Amino acid sequence: MPQPCNRIRSYLSAPAANLAGAFLAVFMNIPQQRLRLSLCLVSCLLLSCSKPQAEKAEFFVFGTLVEVELSGADPATAQASFQQLQEMFQTMHRDWHAWEPGLLTEINQAFANGQSGLADQQLATLIQQSQGLETASGGRFNPAIGQLVERWGFHTSDYPIQAPVPAANKIKELLAAHPSTLDIQLISRENGQWEVRSTNPAVQLDLGGIAKGYAVDLAIESLRTQSLQGAIVNAGGDIRAFGRHDGRAWRIAVQNPLGGIIGIVETTTDEAVFTSGNYQRYGVDENGFRYAHILDPRNGWPVQHVLSATVIVDSGILADAAATALVVAGLDEWAQVASGMQLDLILLTDEAGKIYMTRAMQARIALSAQMIKAVVLLD
Ligand code: AMP
Ligand code: MG
Repeated sequence: MPQPCNRIRSYLSAPAANLAGAFLAVFMNIPQQRLRLSLCLVSCLLLSCSKPQAEKAEFFVFGTLVEVELSGADPATAQASFQQLQEMFQTMHRDWHAWEPGLLTEINQAFANGQSGLADQQLATLIQQSQGLETASGGRFNPAIGQLVERWGFHTSDYPIQAPVPAANKIKELLAAHPSTLDIQLISRENGQWEVRSTNPAVQLDLGGIAKGYAVDLAIESLRTQSLQGAIVNAGGDIRAFGRHDGRAWRIAVQNPLGGIIGIVETTTDEAVFTSGNYQRYGVDENGFRYAHILDPRNGWPVQHVLSATVIVDSGILADAAATALVVAGLDEWAQVASGMQLDLILLTDEAGKIYMTRAMQARIALSAQMIKAVVLLD
């Protein structure tokens, strides 16, 4: 018999519960007192859980909370894994950061000066993968647009950003240089090092749209070498899981950017469920208009209309790039991205509260009752 407390634990992370609570209170006008009571009930269910707990850890990296849960691990091995994962995540955070000084900023500086930089094996893999993913997405995913991202003010951790909207001619100027990851050349050197250079000085790498995906993949790869029943790595709602959790499927909530949960996806194999959203990291212009942190590399402007894109696929790096590309593609072009990146499990949401999904996704998601009417099938 499934234990209710474990069922809740498997998908409703504390930040998700807080966020959902805040949205319920603000947008659905649920009285605070009743809300507190319901949240208390959820907490009581969690606390009264008497089954042995899976091993869990949390770290704050990539500007987000990373949660790892192992099933079937012995506590001492689990603690050693958590220590190792935490160090891995911290190194990746430092090496791949788009604006804090580190390996990537040194490489960007070298590109700007027309010189060569040095990358280690992981960063070289990230760059090589980015090249393939930029092509597969038809240029909608393009991590070489770091100058544009910076110009829009998104090289910050403080949201909403207050930087002024860039002048249209500045955006045009940056676009005219056509930065692309395909301008980057990688040459293998000794000891797993790679020399990297760009034929285009306008290339500035910003790996914010893909770094979490690769980090989650590396974490899962390391966990798969252990004899676990299963594991889940959740980097701020971007999730990859394999195996089982206490003998049952992992249950992953797909959040609605307008509040609450769209539905639950169950997974037992090895899958990544990633969401890119236009709603958490944004700027506000002088007229109060919100603009997104995801830019269309083809025109240099923040994307509009689509609020989020969720994909399910068997790789974190692909899921991350694909979710970003799908937000750029929107409802008009999602099919091009789906075929270029070989995706069939896709869900998009828009400002009007509609939920668009492929038939394959519909077959995978158990929709929340109040969402059923909002669903439109993508064909
Ligand atoms: P994600 O949350 O995975 O969609 O990543 C968004 C981040 O990727 C932004 O904060 C930027 O750092 C970067 N970015 C924005 N637009 C793009 C784009 N079209 N292609 C690649 N990276 C992007
Ligand atoms: Mg992404």
